[in-house]
Amino acid sequence: MCGILGIIGDQPVAPLLLDGLKRLEYRGYDSAGIATLVNGRIDRRRAQGKLTNLAHLLAREPIAGTVGIGHTRWATHGPPSERNAHPHANDRVAVVHNGIIENFRELRHALQESGHAFETQTDTEVIAHLLADELAAGATPEHAMARALAQLEGAFALAVIFAGHHHLMIGARRGSPLAVGYGEDAMYLGSDALGLAPLTSRICYLEEGDWAVLSPAGARIYDAAGDPVDRPVKQTA
Ligand code: GLU
Repeated sequence: MCGILGIIGDQPVAPLLLDGLKRLEYRGYDSAGIATLVNGRIDRRRAQGKLTNLAHLLAREPIAGTVGIGHTRWATHGPPSERNAHPHANDRVAVVHNGIIENFRELRHALQESGHAFETQTDTEVIAHLLADELAAGATPEHAMARALAQLEGAFALAVIFAGHHHLMIGARRGSPLAVGYGEDAMYLGSDALGLAPLTSRICYLEEGDWAVLSPAGARIYDAAGDPVDRPVKQTA
């Protein structure tokens, strides 16, 4: 289980994501990547190995955008490689995931039967396809997320961005920690408080089954049943 960071605000996020991922390096990882929205479309950079490889790639091929997600991966399904590195993306969503989707084989099989072509060997990629299917059928991002979450079994934390939605990022926690950080004109998701530390000291730890809909101005948090809930925001040191 490795590192997740998400940022939604009004400043370029790529350098902040890279810095944040560096602070999560202590957890160990085999590859890393980030995805942002540029003119409403998903852009991403991924690299196998150390974060310096991703940093060099970003220096050569910078990535703009004021909403984005980043990940350090510790492979459980599919060997470490650039192709299997997160974020996993299609033209509708980009997803980062910590943990394991236990029922990914059944989901993958059903998605392939309905015409989805898979690019990676990860358990994670099913989430991107499930969300794309729901969005293609006309669901809002929030409904697509609720429906996808209802189909997933296992232990996971997720962060998702949606093409065409600059002011939206959704996180979910089931069996793997995820926190929401509250900043000035920006909001954050992090798999641990260390990744968020220099960005904000106001943190809300999601509870088991919670998912959070973030804009640059704040967050709405829902429990596993989809009911809105209030969770305490704590001041860290
Ligand atoms: N199961 C996912 C994968 O193998 C996520 C691993 C992680 O937690 O980093 O890609």
